Amino acid sequence: MSGFVIQQPPIVSIPVAGGGAFPVRRVYCIGRNYAAHSVEMGGDPNRETPFFFQKNPNNLDPTGEFPYPANTSDVHHEVELVVALKSGGVNIPVEKALDHVWGYAPALDMTRRDLQNDAKKAGRPWEISKAFERSGPVGLLHPVAQVGHLDRGRIELKVNGNVRQTADINQMIWKVPEMIAYLSEYFELAAGDVIFSGTPSGVGPVSRGDRMEVNIDGLKGFTVTVV
Ligand code: MN
Repeated sequence: MSGFVIQQPPIVSIPVAGGGAFPVRRVYCIGRNYAAHSVEMGGDPNRETPFFFQKNPNNLDPTGEFPYPANTSDVHHEVELVVALKSGGVNIPVEKALDHVWGYAPALDMTRRDLQNDAKKAGRPWEISKAFERSGPVGLLHPVAQVGHLDRGRIELKVNGNVRQTADINQMIWKVPEMIAYLSEYFELAAGDVIFSGTPSGVGPVSRGDRMEVNIDGLKGFTVTVV
């Protein structure tokens, strides 16, 4: 489009398995969506009302490298299944929610845990701990047309070959259709929106040189090196 008064920022996208790219509009992330992780974070393992925070679209990073961020000495891995929407709306019924899903990708919700703990104590927002540069390493996006909907299957993270996080997607407290329906009561969802669906227990710190390997049944795995 002509008329922009500065150079247009790049359109953020997630590479698609088999070719092409999925443009990203918004990034929603659910907190405490696996019971065992909720307990390790000091929360309630039962179905409390879900809560969400956001990352910036350009925090997503498919490069396979995660630069150790500034202003933290405790950056944690959180392995997550990402859901990408091809359409949206408001007040989407649970039973129609999956109609809006274009595909699924493996991802990491990297977190400056020390800053997050400070923010929680002070009752402050989480962006400083969650929405920093390259905080969302993401693998290839797989179309539903090829892999179907992922409602069960192993989700796992290894660091330097050792399993740190492992669970089954069916252990999510709020399932994918429920997350979409809930978000759509508060936000207008649209094509290009992606949702980080929460992490299982076993989150922990990484250091420069660590190799994080993400595997979710049905999706191509991906590896991220901390640099
Ligand atoms: Mn998370």
